Amino acid sequence: MVYYAPTLSRLIGELLKLPGIGPKTAQRLAFYLLKVSKEDVFALSQAIVDVKEKLKFCPVCFNIAEEELCAICRDPGRDSSTLCVVEEANDLLAVEKTREFKGLYHVLGGIISPLEGRGPERLNAKELLHRLERGTVKEVILATNPTAEGEATAMYLSRLLKPLGVKMTRIARGLPMGGDLEYADEVTLAKALEGRREI
Ligand SMILES: [Zn+2]
Repeated sequence: MVYYAPTLSRLIGELLKLPGIGPKTAQRLAFYLLKVSKEDVFALSQAIVDVKEKLKFCPVCFNIAEEELCAICRDPGRDSSTLCVVEEANDLLAVEKTREFKGLYHVLGGIISPLEGRGPERLNAKELLHRLERGTVKEVILATNPTAEGEATAMYLSRLLKPLGVKMTRIARGLPMGGDLEYADEVTLAKALEGRREI
């Protein structure tokens, strides 16, 4: 058993909760923080606190917003007739990076996962339905990840939205199965958007 001073041990414990951080990295980061200036550590901790205190979800599309609406919903240059539905806000960023899409988004805030007991009621699907009922949107691109759960979520949404008669498309394959939009390269993702098919 390695002995750490309790304060250090607490920091390592908190760092370990972060994704992609194992015990070795947690220890390295903790010792690094111990060495850097107080100002730098305060700047880091303040940045973390600000994420919680200053950011919220856009009430229209559930993207991350610093003002009343997110930057995309506020942009009058976006095409409000096309809506791209993604799982999480970081998937929205991945699509934005392709520069291929000029429409608006809807962030589901998750996916359906029967194994983990996550049903459709946990998604921002009702809000999506209400948005479409207003009639401005002519096409919905279902851009959930190409995983089994992402596919199941796309199927669920296509059934839910079908009665509205809006054109629905699913991003093309070419994205690795089981993959994550966030990690797809920009060209592959741009091609997948371009090759979307109606469902
Ligand atoms: Zn928004």
